[in-house]
Amino acid sequence: MSENKTPRVNTGKIVGQVDATQMPRYGGIATFALLPQINEVTDVDVAIVGVPFDSGVSYRPGARFGPSHVREASRLLRPYNPETNVSPFATQQVVDPGDFAANPFDIEEAISSIHKNYDQLSERAKKIVTIGGDHTITLPILRSLKAKHGPISVVHFDAHLDTWDSYFGADYTHGTTFRRASEEGLLDPEGCMHIGIRGPLYAAKDLTDDKALGFQIFSSVEFQDLGVNAAIEKLKARVGKRPTYISIDIDVLDPAHAPGTGTPEAGGLTSRELLSVLRATAGMNVVGADIVEVAPAYDHAQITGIAASHVMYELISAFAAK
Ligand code: MN
Ligand code: MN
Repeated sequence: MSENKTPRVNTGKIVGQVDATQMPRYGGIATFALLPQINEVTDVDVAIVGVPFDSGVSYRPGARFGPSHVREASRLLRPYNPETNVSPFATQQVVDPGDFAANPFDIEEAISSIHKNYDQLSERAKKIVTIGGDHTITLPILRSLKAKHGPISVVHFDAHLDTWDSYFGADYTHGTTFRRASEEGLLDPEGCMHIGIRGPLYAAKDLTDDKALGFQIFSSVEFQDLGVNAAIEKLKARVGKRPTYISIDIDVLDPAHAPGTGTPEAGGLTSRELLSVLRATAGMNVVGADIVEVAPAYDHAQITGIAASHVMYELISAFAAK
């Protein structure tokens, strides 16, 4: 019982997904994409870690259940990506190390424990993709990456700026992450941008404050008017070869494509558009990524979970393509 007898696809020394010709994908334990757990391998290229924390949300709670939901929805991911001609799990060792524990009653303690755990996992994994959790969790990740790479570019996909100053007197929330990151000198002000911004703000000052922190915006309306290729061009021009972190709030997608989230806004990207932009990050110097704000209680038929799992697949494929 305790022994791992799950049949797996092995490519040389890389341990792959559960062999779906031996065990159907809906069976067995739901690690991300049915990949091995971290203790089943020696070297780790990419770790997919969960951070079930949502005490920083300002509206609908529930993203603490995001990691298990995305893993469950990722069962169907197959090994070959025809769009980029890569087999992302055959050329790099991708593993699921499980979740970081984070205190749900003390945000600052949670932030510091996520930071510590991320530092530790970075010693084993060359790259980490994190499943949130709310957007608060990105701050400790950026702290960890700054120590390694210096100030980094952030490409932030979101309906929201997340550069507000405070909320109900709280400095650490899911809407203040990039303001704090900027104040702490974690961001390269020449290389940051938001993609997919839309919806009502508190005031026009939100935008001037945001610009002063060094963010450029490619809004959801620009996406509509100028299209995917223009978004990719602007992204590449902004980021270049800088060390870059990709942070994806699932609410960048229209609620039709991602209803299962805490702060939905109408008029967003399609999942097809988001996947296309992510595909184009192959060859960029991406040092880590996250997908946050998946809140399964508001999801239907796994729509949001499936979108999130495909977003991750495209990211991991882009790592393999470079
Ligand atoms: Mn958002
Ligand atoms: Mn966000």
